[in-house]
Amino acid sequence: MFRHSWALALALGCGADKPAAPSADTATSSVEPTCVDTDDALRLAWPLPGTDTIDWVTVQHVDLDPGPGLADHTGATGEAAKTYDGHNGVDIGISSFRRMDQGVDVLAAAGGEVIEIVDGQPDRNTTCVEGADNRVVVRHPSGHVLLYLHLRTGSVSVDVGDVVQAGDVLGQVGSSGCSDHPHLHLGVETADRVVLDPFRDALWCDPPPYDSPMNLMESWLLAGPSEQYANPIQDPPSEQVAFDPGDELLAYAVVGGGTTGQSVAATLEGPDETRIGPFPIEVGEPAWRLSTWWWSFSLPSQPGPWSLELTIDGEVVESRAFEVR
Ligand SMILES: [Zn+2]
Repeated sequence: MFRHSWALALALGCGADKPAAPSADTATSSVEPTCVDTDDALRLAWPLPGTDTIDWVTVQHVDLDPGPGLADHTGATGEAAKTYDGHNGVDIGISSFRRMDQGVDVLAAAGGEVIEIVDGQPDRNTTCVEGADNRVVVRHPSGHVLLYLHLRTGSVSVDVGDVVQAGDVLGQVGSSGCSDHPHLHLGVETADRVVLDPFRDALWCDPPPYDSPMNLMESWLLAGPSEQYANPIQDPPSEQVAFDPGDELLAYAVVGGGTTGQSVAATLEGPDETRIGPFPIEVGEPAWRLSTWWWSFSLPSQPGPWSLELTIDGEVVESRAFEVR
């Protein structure tokens, strides 16, 4: 009658060069930083619009281990580190290709002159394709270089030589180049092109927390079986809102963040107070960053209005209406 299955947290990939060794201990500072981006001092605004774990979520940090191991700016190492070997930037994921197709702007994190653009590369990659990303590269007046990678094809809206301000639209989030999911890779480098970590080096004006509680980023319904969709990840079919009795209903939920012990659950509610579920999935170790889950239901025969309810820790976060004919 029912089964659920899930996709593991997505590992986003890109980049190659090693980051620089730590240059300063910023953790002990007791002075609240003033966030003013000047020609001499680089300060970064967040490069995607919206809210942490709803519109975007940070999935990979800079790998600070110069060897084959993993370490991020919090001191987490090995599997606990939110990075992968050699990662030289910050990866900020969005929920899906479906969302990417709606257009998610990439904003300049700081001002400067555009020194390189690439556009026209394929943008629906689900595995790494080296050297084929759409990008915008900006040199800040201080000499720092900011790289915005994996952009959506045809979205780059600046030219080499343009001067941009923080918040200006540079392009849109895509999955071009070495990328397996739509995300922005923001690289920050010194004038000598030494990789910095904007979290470790306290460059953000308003950095999001390292561990964010779970939020629903996106959900949708489809009729099964899933095998009928040739490529549902890269080319998501239109949402379905009417089903026949006995149909398989696939309910998808993309969640951002998630700390150990939290849970996301799906329940169907139908006519005559019919209730199927809830079917929870609990966060274990390590905590989730960005993950896509789905539940498969065989629909009963009661025709009429139904709904899918998604809950996080028992609280309803989404109710999607559908009809059984
Ligand atoms: Zn990256």
